[in-house]
Amino acid sequence: MGKQRARGQKAGVDFAIAMNRAYDETVMEMEHKISDLMIEQMCLDAQDAFCKREGVLMFAPANGVCPYCGMQIFGGEGYGILQAARRLITRCPYCSATFCD
Ligand SMILES: [Zn+2]
Repeated sequence: MGKQRARGQKAGVDFAIAMNRAYDETVMEMEHKISDLMIEQMCLDAQDAFCKREGVLMFAPANGVCPYCGMQIFGGEGYGILQAARRLITRCPYCSATFCD
């Protein structure tokens, strides 16, 4: 009985991991299809929502453009939607300058 329950929990964990992976892959697939401009806006929105939810200050520049090197930090080789939605962005992915100062 106990064993069966453990197996059931394991299956639940596997399912959760598979679902999470499927979700990540779907989002990444979507990112390839939608335009850079939309990705930038979605990343900004995602980061803004993350900061509000966590009750922390948003450090990422409001237009997504690094004030030090002038690169757009969202989309392309920069931060993706998943990163923007799940972590506090404090640095430029290109020149590594911090936005916290
Ligand atoms: Zn930069």
